[in-house]
Amino acid sequence: MSPLIQVLDEKYHNVKRDLFGLQTPSVFEIDEKMYNMDVVDKFRMFDVQFEEIYSSPVHPSGLDSEYGKGKDVIGVTYFYRNGEQNGSAVFIVVNSSDEDIVYLKKYISILHELGHVHDFENQINFDSYARASDAVKAEAYAEIFALKYLDRDKQDVVHKFVKSQYAEALKNRKQRSEFYASVHKEINIYISESRLKRWRKF
Ligand SMILES: [Zn+2]
Repeated sequence: MSPLIQVLDEKYHNVKRDLFGLQTPSVFEIDEKMYNMDVVDKFRMFDVQFEEIYSSPVHPSGLDSEYGKGKDVIGVTYFYRNGEQNGSAVFIVVNSSDEDIVYLKKYISILHELGHVHDFENQINFDSYARASDAVKAEAYAEIFALKYLDRDKQDVVHKFVKSQYAEALKNRKQRSEFYASVHKEINIYISESRLKRWRKF
């Protein structure tokens, strides 16, 4: 294990343990094959008890929201209700054909997915009662949550590195679809393009 990978792994496990003090999440580690499995099958596999699974965020204009289909983030979070209790099940892919970047990706993914949970618990872009959510704003919220966390401690060189990779991935992604172009615009309201550009220069 290289020193970088070791630090990334340590940071991943610290976040997985502390969960930013969030109340609802359970984090499950899966392999790439399970990532594409149906949500109910995923829940069954890990014995997640639920009465209702809230539908994933939808795009306000009916475009494919691409929720949980990211290529840079290898995780997905589902929100559910069991009795009176809300829960969130975070699935993180921890193996990949690309061993070199899996540690980077799983760290980015847990930060991103817990961003969704933070959003859900505070009902910012999710409305559990109305069973409504905004996919563009939710996706941007998760990215901003992760990036701001990485930016918090300016002395943290590993975070600086992760942030540069993250900003680079965002740049490539906005070209990919209309959905991600909209997400990027939303991110830019809170994090300017020039700031992202600075972050990319590690
Ligand atoms: Zn997301």
